[in-house]
Amino acid sequence: MISTNIEEKMKSASWIRAMFEEGAKMKKIYGEKNVFDFTLGNPNLPPPASLKSSIQKIITEQDSSMHRYMNNAGFEDVRLAIANQLNHSTNLTLNQKHIIMTVGAAGALNVILKTILNPQDQVIILAPYFVEYLFYIENHGGIPVSVKTKPGTFQLDLEKIKESITKTTKAIMINSPNNPSGAIYSQEDLEELSNIIRMKNRELGTKIYLISDEPYRELVYDQKKVPHVLTIFDDVLMAYSYSKSLSLAGERIGYIAVKTSLESEDLLITGLTFSNRILGFVNAPALFQKVIKEIQGEAIDVTPYQEKRDILYQNLKKIGYNITKPAGTFYFFVESLIKDDILFVKKALEFRLLFVPGSGFGYPGYFRLSYCTDMETIENSIASFEKLYKHYNV
Ligand code: PLP
Repeated sequence: MISTNIEEKMKSASWIRAMFEEGAKMKKIYGEKNVFDFTLGNPNLPPPASLKSSIQKIITEQDSSMHRYMNNAGFEDVRLAIANQLNHSTNLTLNQKHIIMTVGAAGALNVILKTILNPQDQVIILAPYFVEYLFYIENHGGIPVSVKTKPGTFQLDLEKIKESITKTTKAIMINSPNNPSGAIYSQEDLEELSNIIRMKNRELGTKIYLISDEPYRELVYDQKKVPHVLTIFDDVLMAYSYSKSLSLAGERIGYIAVKTSLESEDLLITGLTFSNRILGFVNAPALFQKVIKEIQGEAIDVTPYQEKRDILYQNLKKIGYNITKPAGTFYFFVESLIKDDILFVKKALEFRLLFVPGSGFGYPGYFRLSYCTDMETIENSIASFEKLYKHYNV
């Protein structure tokens, strides 16, 4: 027997898994190449070439003490290198104490929420959102409050966010570039959001954190820039990850960067470090902490993702889909051809197209299409997209 709570959660999170299983079944019947699976967000570009040589160098040069337990926040030299890198791009004066190495962004978010939430505290999340947020917040006794971004652009709806802030709001969680919309929230909107938080803090006597989940910071196109929340907000906890920027999703490495105006900042940092330990992570993987220090500042070449984005965008637009060109990530969030996105995604299976419905991201009426897949799948899928469109538009 398993806990009824987990059983319920598994059911509500079943979309990506259900589509994955459906895809596996279809691939057995029709063959890998004849099923167009756009469900997964698993980076399929190789890590930078320097990865292998830096692993070799570390293994040769470091002594075996590297493999022992360490400060739960991670190696000091690694954290200092990251602080310096962030200072370079923000003009801030962070040091190693402001960086806590984590088990990816997922680990970082759980550590943050564990540390700051009291039971029933509210966390505002912006739809469409990464579905795991619901579980992460509930893991630590919080209540997710979903606020929709604007249809089409998926930019912040500042009025709605303002209306949703209450005395029990502990944090606002953003993810930009966004999974699933690919939107990058604008500097102006983020500055306005920061003003709203200041105003609400004064009015309600609260101290609301901005939690910024940034695994896609480096996956941006057309020379777009991702505004730096560390320079915009007073009290920020940034969750960064190398899963996408270096295609290292399986190695589970990331960090939290802390920038606050709090007198009790040291207590917050000690709390985060303690949570890293008691959530059972203990500390982030030792070898990969050292690796990311070696290749600090590097990122994968996103040109292949951009090519795939452009091919899909041009073709789907030409066919007639209502589609916004994403500024970053490797996802499109496309308007469903019928109101019921779940029914639509089921219909798409008949054309061997696999998507995740927008309902799975708290934003019905759309579907997510992930293009971190091979070019052949993309090129061969276009005819099916056309047939699917024609099915609803005869
Ligand atoms: N946040 C978002 C928005 C994601 O899409 C993902 C993974 O896909 C994560 C967090 C988790 O990333 P990580 O592999 O760094 O734990």
